[in-house]
Amino acid sequence: MPDRGQLKQQVIDEIDRRRQELIDLSLRLHANPEVAFKEEKAAAWLADYLEANGFSVERGICQIPTAFRAAYGSGAPRVAFLAEYDALPGVGHGCGHNIIGAASTAAGLAVKAVVEETGGTVLVIGTPAEEAAGGKVYMAARGAFEGLDCAMLAHPGNRDVALSYALACLELDVEFHGRAAHAAARPEAGTNALDAMIAAFVNIGLLRQQLRDSARIHGIITDGGQAVNVIPYHTAASFLIRAEDDQYLDEALKSKVLACFQGAAVATGCRLEHCWGDASRYKAMRSNQTLAEVYRANIEALGRKVVDPGSHRPMGSTDMGNVSALVPAIHPTIAIAPPDISIHTVEFRETAASEAGHQGLLDSAKALAMTAVDVLVDADLRRRMREEFDGGG
Ligand SMILES: [Zn+2]
Ligand SMILES: [Zn+2]
Repeated sequence: MPDRGQLKQQVIDEIDRRRQELIDLSLRLHANPEVAFKEEKAAAWLADYLEANGFSVERGICQIPTAFRAAYGSGAPRVAFLAEYDALPGVGHGCGHNIIGAASTAAGLAVKAVVEETGGTVLVIGTPAEEAAGGKVYMAARGAFEGLDCAMLAHPGNRDVALSYALACLELDVEFHGRAAHAAARPEAGTNALDAMIAAFVNIGLLRQQLRDSARIHGIITDGGQAVNVIPYHTAASFLIRAEDDQYLDEALKSKVLACFQGAAVATGCRLEHCWGDASRYKAMRSNQTLAEVYRANIEALGRKVVDPGSHRPMGSTDMGNVSALVPAIHPTIAIAPPDISIHTVEFRETAASEAGHQGLLDSAKALAMTAVDVLVDADLRRRMREEFDGGG
């Protein structure tokens, strides 16, 4: 087995050698933002680039036209970089997925340069629609991540973080059915579906004090009534319910939230219909700490300083959580913006095409590729990752 340090230098050199074409690729994605499941150009550019460099590519995997799987090498261990490339409606690449797409592709090409020496297989898996619907939710259910030793992607942000967290997230759609009546002449003949909805919001507001700090319940009313002089006979709302662990969400939060709606229905005499969005459920992100530690060492060797997000970390949800439930996975953050610029803004979009964005692309690609080298050459590391994963992380 060649020296690990030499292999890491080779992957760094490979990314430096491709520097300009990687930046051009990132800028091309940035200039052509495509929203969830419509990432036809982005998926094709990345898949074409990998194919032209010797990867065998399957397009449209998991019945998703803009998903792909590119592989090079043979047999185990199998290390995958996940490429996101969808944009946001209105804000374009305000989440910087152009950098993720280019960096995961770059990491794949870099590891390809050493995989004959390390043995194993390097994969780049194109995962559409992170921002809506969650492409990885469906790809996970359809077997896209089976047989991997680990899966990684680095997300651009405003600080360098190795160990990330994200909340499990479940959608709930509700409807109340009442009875219409003239709101002034005969209100007593009506059954007010808006009263039921308001009571449910109040119940949820009261419930919040009894929940764990990290729980989040937030909703919008999508139908609040039909006319001001008619007792509303129908109301509807969409909610998202989130928690730091899947079990708490399933075993506690779901029934408590549903009871808020059921109680409101009883109090007002309305009929409740509800529907859980289990098919699009995001699982909590379970970062593999062993792997995250290896990534931290590699990104710090490139001169960056990783920060500990601490207990008051801001958290959303990501479909990477569903991958982390299946295989050891990490979702580190690479700093490309100052702390006061957040993702999903116009300012962040500009940063994603700036010099700082390019540096984030190159550094994250190098650290991901170096981490893959560690995984490919180090059987003991693979065993520790797997033990942590099997032990429930
Ligand atoms: Zn985003
Ligand atoms: Zn994102």
